[in-house]
Amino acid sequence: MSKAPSPLLLTPGPLTTALETRAAMQRDYGSRDAAFIALTRRVRERVVALARGEATHVGVPLQGSGTYAVEATLGTLLDATRKTLVLINGAYGKRIERICRLIGRPCDSYETAESTPPDPAELGQRLRADPSIADVVLVHCETTSGILNPLEAIATTVAAEGRGLIVDAMSSFGAIPIDLRRTPIDALIASSNKCLEGVPGIGLVLVSRARLEASAGKCHSLSLDLHEQWRGFEANGQWRFTPPTHGLAALDAALDGLDAEGGVAGRFARYRENCQILLRGMAALGAAPLLAETLQAPIIVTFRMPADPAFRFERFYDELGRRGFLIYPGKLTGVESFRVGCIGQVRAADMEGFVAAARDAITAMGISSLAP
Ligand SMILES: *Cc1c(COP(=O)(O)O)cnc(C)c1O
Repeated sequence: MSKAPSPLLLTPGPLTTALETRAAMQRDYGSRDAAFIALTRRVRERVVALARGEATHVGVPLQGSGTYAVEATLGTLLDATRKTLVLINGAYGKRIERICRLIGRPCDSYETAESTPPDPAELGQRLRADPSIADVVLVHCETTSGILNPLEAIATTVAAEGRGLIVDAMSSFGAIPIDLRRTPIDALIASSNKCLEGVPGIGLVLVSRARLEASAGKCHSLSLDLHEQWRGFEANGQWRFTPPTHGLAALDAALDGLDAEGGVAGRFARYRENCQILLRGMAALGAAPLLAETLQAPIIVTFRMPADPAFRFERFYDELGRRGFLIYPGKLTGVESFRVGCIGQVRAADMEGFVAAARDAITAMGISSLAP
């Protein structure tokens, strides 16, 4: 086992976690034991309460990473005979379209540039023009670029046209407030290891109870069937197949940390401060973010690739790593760029430390500016 201290993860997940979260995994749970059944029930209720969905939605956790939960939600809820409209402005939207095609759910897309949110008015027109569209799928924060898409306006438009809405809120849930009492959403998809600051391994879907009840027998898959997964929880409180026992205990502890921080509002405030320190500090080094500040979610920042011919991303990555910071070693955007996350158990002093490390890194590379 490596005795080296953990680096700070300034990535889009997995993230730096709290000691208490990791410590919760020191206990073993029997998957069919009363203690674990109680833990499962508690976590299911807590995640629904975060979005104020107690009266309308049920929490269905699923083994696997976020993409498993996305595929499960699409497979369980979408109709094989009616059309789905996927709003795309990045890699995660494209992945949703790909899943729909793979599992035989007819779909269209409304695609905008990576730095352009979908326009609710145009969406409304498209829905009125095509009554065969039953559902719309939106990525809340498109982690490809870090853009925050206009969830409330989209949800209002979709509801006004009488269609369903599925939201991939993977990188926003727990940090950006979502209120299911006011925002009509059929299914909200999240995961344990992003803004909830748990460890990886659990997808979480908050589904409208009515919609889930009407979805029996639709899923293309046995293990990804959210309706069956939910029936299992309702029948005996247990997971259908081997649950991520340690991961669920860690998530429960991570939710304690979220409460202690003042809930979603408190976490949002810390991430926003992290993001502002990052933006200001990197601007002082000449770096330019891809997005206008009004579109930027306080989750992850994409910077345009520096123009200095001596800049090599691999070297920059290694120099930062030597100084204790891991960033994401690859770009997802169409434009040349690199990304730095501001989520997880990191705070102002860590972000200031990152900016100082970036300054030292480029000095070591013989570069004076990160300007694109
Ligand atoms: C992280 C993420 C996912 C899921 O990715 P996994 O690697 O499967 O956990 C899906 N959508 C968005 C927007 C994400 O940020």
